Amino acid sequence: MASYFDRVFKPCYREYLQVIPGKKTIGGCFKLLWNLIKPNALTYPDLVCVLTTHCSLKCKHCNNLIPCYKEPYHVPADEIISDINTVLSHTDICVKLALLGGEPFVYPEIGKVIDAFKDHPKVMCLDFATNATVIPNDEILDKIASAKNPKIIISDYGVSTQKVKEFAEVCRKKGIFCEVCEDKTWRLAGGTECRNKDRDELIKEYDSCYSSRYCRTLLNGKIYTCARAASLVDMGYMDGTHDSFDIRKERTDKEFRKEMREFLTIDYAEACNYCDHDKKIAIPAGEQLP
Ligand code: SF4
Repeated sequence: MASYFDRVFKPCYREYLQVIPGKKTIGGCFKLLWNLIKPNALTYPDLVCVLTTHCSLKCKHCNNLIPCYKEPYHVPADEIISDINTVLSHTDICVKLALLGGEPFVYPEIGKVIDAFKDHPKVMCLDFATNATVIPNDEILDKIASAKNPKIIISDYGVSTQKVKEFAEVCRKKGIFCEVCEDKTWRLAGGTECRNKDRDELIKEYDSCYSSRYCRTLLNGKIYTCARAASLVDMGYMDGTHDSFDIRKERTDKEFRKEMREFLTIDYAEACNYCDHDKKIAIPAGEQLP
């Protein structure tokens, strides 16, 4: 097992102090501390939720393998809301709840999901990662603006269909905190074949990956070790038994918290056997398939 301090405690404070918007207070720091150390505590630095596997771009080296979906689909909002509510019912604090795709703003039921969590007392920040090809309508933007602590991150790949400046300006006018990520380099994750790495390599790789702390991903009732793991299992490239936590399984509150804390400190992810991040090969971000 990895350490709780390294996988949960430190990432929660990093997200709270450096990543999420809003005023930080001593009281807020103590509240977070208590919800990390009290008996049976369950606090997440990040919970990523996949709304849809549809995307408005076709990135050749998408880490989450979205262009590999032959039949992309939208996850029904009622299922998403019910699953997140199940998780939150056993949770003390979720520092950041990230709504992700594919592209979240092509998801037709996004308004319903925002309504369900925009004022949730256990969610500190509602976060959206977008490629800025689709600017949501006023109604959706107003819902986001009325959330307790919203944040939109735009990934700017320099693709001609992206409306980065326009989207950022709309956010500014609506008073939504928006950050443009101009990082033009990704790390190559490679294809979907198994690399046959041994357990020690997997432990080292998962531990050195950002995703082991900031990208536990909810898809169709299961939380996965990272977003790539969710896609790999969803498309049948790997078995998800080791890399997932079934939130729909019957458990008491105490069992859920204990088993989830164990999952958050899992020592390796099988998904790293289907990923080349360890090779540290830099590639241009957002290169498009024809
Ligand atoms: S598969 Fe492993 S190395 Fe690749 S993104 Fe997921 S956790 Fe990181």
